[in-house]
Amino acid sequence: METITIGRWTLEVDREATEAAFSKISLGSPETCECDYCKNLVVARDSAYPEDARQVFSQLGIDYRKEAVRHGSGTGLDRSCTAMEASFIS
Ligand SMILES: [Zn+2]
Repeated sequence: METITIGRWTLEVDREATEAAFSKISLGSPETCECDYCKNLVVARDSAYPEDARQVFSQLGIDYRKEAVRHGSGTGLDRSCTAMEASFIS
C-alpha cells in the first residue's frame, strides 16, 4: 500500500493489487461492444485520454485500455468506468 495525493484527495492505494486484477482482464468493455462509439474508442483510445489522466491511471495501477464501461452519446468519450484497490484518506 502506498499513499498518494491527487489534486485535493489523498488515497491509500494498493497499486500491485489493482495491476494484478487488471492483468486478469483480457479486454476492455469497448472491445466487446458492437456500437460505433466503442469501436471508435478502441481505435482512438490513446488520444482519447489526456496525458495527465493517463499519469493518474498509472499511479493507481489502472490499465486505461481496459475500461469496465464506456458512457457516451456522441463521438467523444464522455465518461468511462474502471476499478481500483484504494481507499480515500481525505
Ligand atoms: Zn458500445
